[in-house]
Amino acid sequence: MKRLAILGSTGSIGTQALDVVAAHPEMFEVEVLSAHSNSALLVQQAQRFNPNAIVVTDNSKYQEVKDALSHLPIKVFSGAEALNDVVQWDTVDTVLAAIVGFAGLSSTLAAINAGKRVALANKETLVVAGELVMQLAQEKKVEIIPVDSEHSAIFQCLVGENPNNIEKVILTASGGPFLGRKPNYLVNVKASHALQHPNWTMGAKITIDSATLMNKGLEMIEAKWLFGLQNDQIEVIVHPQSIVHSLVQFTDSSVKAQMGLPDMKLPIQYAIAYPHRIHNDFKRFSFRDFAKLTFEQPDYKTFRNLALAKEAMYRGGNSPCVLNAANEVVVHSFLQNKVSFIEMSDIIEKAIEHVAFVEHPTLEDYKHSDAEARIYATELVKQSQLSY
Ligand code: NDP
Ligand code: MG
Repeated sequence: MKRLAILGSTGSIGTQALDVVAAHPEMFEVEVLSAHSNSALLVQQAQRFNPNAIVVTDNSKYQEVKDALSHLPIKVFSGAEALNDVVQWDTVDTVLAAIVGFAGLSSTLAAINAGKRVALANKETLVVAGELVMQLAQEKKVEIIPVDSEHSAIFQCLVGENPNNIEKVILTASGGPFLGRKPNYLVNVKASHALQHPNWTMGAKITIDSATLMNKGLEMIEAKWLFGLQNDQIEVIVHPQSIVHSLVQFTDSSVKAQMGLPDMKLPIQYAIAYPHRIHNDFKRFSFRDFAKLTFEQPDYKTFRNLALAKEAMYRGGNSPCVLNAANEVVVHSFLQNKVSFIEMSDIIEKAIEHVAFVEHPTLEDYKHSDAEARIYATELVKQSQLSY
């Protein structure tokens, strides 16, 4: 029996994780659930899964949630700090980190600090502070099992392998809804259009990141830290069918790939059940449905966010943290039609130039860089014609 804390349980990853849990009551028990402000869904989930505790990080929703569950023996907490406490409880074995953005960093660090296994969906944690997070994990002998489908694929390819034998990893990218498009087209695209991802249904932020290819850039940085790679060991290839989830090339030239239909429930299940593989009734992949699997080089010139993320990875220090913060601001603004698709890259680039470079940041440095980048990016968003 694995006792889970699911942070971000009302999101795309969180709800799919609860589907996996519901299908295997003999294997999983829910100890903790958390949401930010979706109190209605959080209450519903609490009634169904009967956790020991829940956290609603938006304080203004506390009373409503507390009242709705007053007849049940479920502890209700509010505020972001509460997440850092509940993940440390003895009754929790595994923490599924499925909060979106920088907001997920602190609770992930708290879980690692308490020696909990972490099933990591929140890629921003590693983008912002990968070195620090992996160092702490090593110190506390904590295993971090990736949920991100590409990293789960690499992780699965590496089972039984000596990590020193990795020559390179190849991350696959679907290319998103604007694959093959050029800047003259992208100038006019709106959020509603960018939210139509061809292969995956995900939260709004990662869906926009997939359309700009920032998601793949974040995943390069995520892979660097998760698997202890050098920058030049990480490649990206566009694979529009999203069947090959990623590949590892070894020093003897052998290449392993992990494949399957695009369904996040599989990497979620793999991560929370690890090291077990559990039988399920997910739809199976068949070559009959995919006569052709195709691969092409990404267009770094058109999808500048991918180039910016790669540059930030090479520069290191606080650059990925600044990139991430500015990206969170512009994606939020793009979703509200306050900034254009193309302007997102301009603002991220300016933010990286603006915030002072710190080569070996502490956690405090990361928090400062994050805050500074957000303020600056927000200023630049206000200067966009769309903001008026
Ligand atoms: P969603 O936006 O669907 O869900 C985010 C979750 O985090 C919700 O439960 C939300 O609560 C909660 N949340 C949002 N803001 C805060 C905050 N400030 N403090 C605490 N909790 C907060 O995101 P996804 O599920 O799509 O993504 C989650 C993470 O997993 C991201 O880092 C993403 O990159 C990664 N990921 C997602 C994939 C996917 O298929 N969706 C694939 C691979 C990685 P509320 O509902 O109340 O707002
Ligand atoms: Mg991914």
